[in-house]
Amino acid sequence: MQSFLNSVDLEEDREDFATVSGLATWIAGHGLASPGYVPSEGDRLRAIEVREGIRDLLLPHGGDDVPEGTVSRLNDALGTVLLTPVFAEDYGLRLPPAGAGLDAVLGRLLQIIYASSIEGTWQRLKVCRNDACRWAFYDASRNRSGVWCTMARCGSKMKARSYRRRAQSASSR
Ligand SMILES: [Zn+2]
Repeated sequence: MQSFLNSVDLEEDREDFATVSGLATWIAGHGLASPGYVPSEGDRLRAIEVREGIRDLLLPHGGDDVPEGTVSRLNDALGTVLLTPVFAEDYGLRLPPAGAGLDAVLGRLLQIIYASSIEGTWQRLKVCRNDACRWAFYDASRNRSGVWCTMARCGSKMKARSYRRRAQSASSR
């Protein structure tokens, strides 16, 4: 899930879903390809829509608000994804996706979200508070207080920035 969200890297200017073949490579690289599936341009746009919608849904995990219209846009993009409940050999309930193509790929990701919401780990998946970054990260801190992807990449940078701002306003007084 984290890897899906981080298929775009704003800081490094990398977008794995920039082309249809890029999306196909990502899907295959994560073992999510169904036999004979070749993504279309519509699939590419839909994958990005779902990715950014889910990223926005993570904002409350870091104390921020979800932008208006996110839920309906995301639900529209999910469209025809279908999960089919089955009990597994270990008697646990599973929700494998029905269908093929992008529906199956998105279904697998939704299944991960569902399972992690039950486990309580979903709340720990957050979006970096640096708007130029928006990297998805797992907050492993005991009190779940993390707001930056990493201290090295954004935390120290943002702290330095607010320090400079404070220093500037102090000297302009
Ligand atoms: Zn960051």
